[in-house]
Amino acid sequence: MVLQLIVLADIHSDLRFLPAIGEKLIAADVILIAGDITHFGGRTGARQVVEELRIYNREILAVPGNCDGVDVERFLIAEGISLQGRRVDMQDVTFGGVCHGLDCAKVVREDKSARDGYELAESLFRDARQAVLVTHQPAYGTKVDLTHGHHAGSRETRALIERLEPILAVSGHIHEAAGTDRLGKTVLVNPGPLCRGCYANVELSDDGVYVKLCRANK
Ligand SMILES: [Zn+2]
Ligand SMILES: [Zn+2]
Repeated sequence: MVLQLIVLADIHSDLRFLPAIGEKLIAADVILIAGDITHFGGRTGARQVVEELRIYNREILAVPGNCDGVDVERFLIAEGISLQGRRVDMQDVTFGGVCHGLDCAKVVREDKSARDGYELAESLFRDARQAVLVTHQPAYGTKVDLTHGHHAGSRETRALIERLEPILAVSGHIHEAAGTDRLGKTVLVNPGPLCRGCYANVELSDDGVYVKLCRANK
């Protein structure tokens, strides 16, 4: 099993760097987007981003972020690329995303409790051989949630990762905390914001998870 992923986050509707990473996008098996696709840009903004990305690669899986409203989420669902509360299997890997119900997405939808988020995630990954979790907010208390010397991630995301033990957990949100870390068996990746040219190349294989953090020039 070998899967090549491009991990994007915090696009904020800024697509200046896309041409510079076009070849990487074309070569990927799937593009994961960990939220903040738009900057309060709604459905129109989300459509622009997704259509531009699809020029390079049509395999896209995404969760919304706190700068994306419910209309962005609805667009992702209608296009069949939403990972929120949904699983997609590729080879031996199960991709799933949870934001609602975790504190990472109170802005997106406030009517879900954390308990719903946990239950949803557990049902998503039932019988998964190798799980990849996509959330917007990173796990609390790690290298990928550090901002100005303090941790600003989600305790609920962290608890979920500790419970599910995915092979990979990708997130964004803390723009200045691009990096990787480990939480138990899980490799954590915050690629950094694409609006500043940041992205990550991740290879999943039987040998493990290999992460390369990259930065494009305009
Ligand atoms: Zn952001
Ligand atoms: Zn955010």
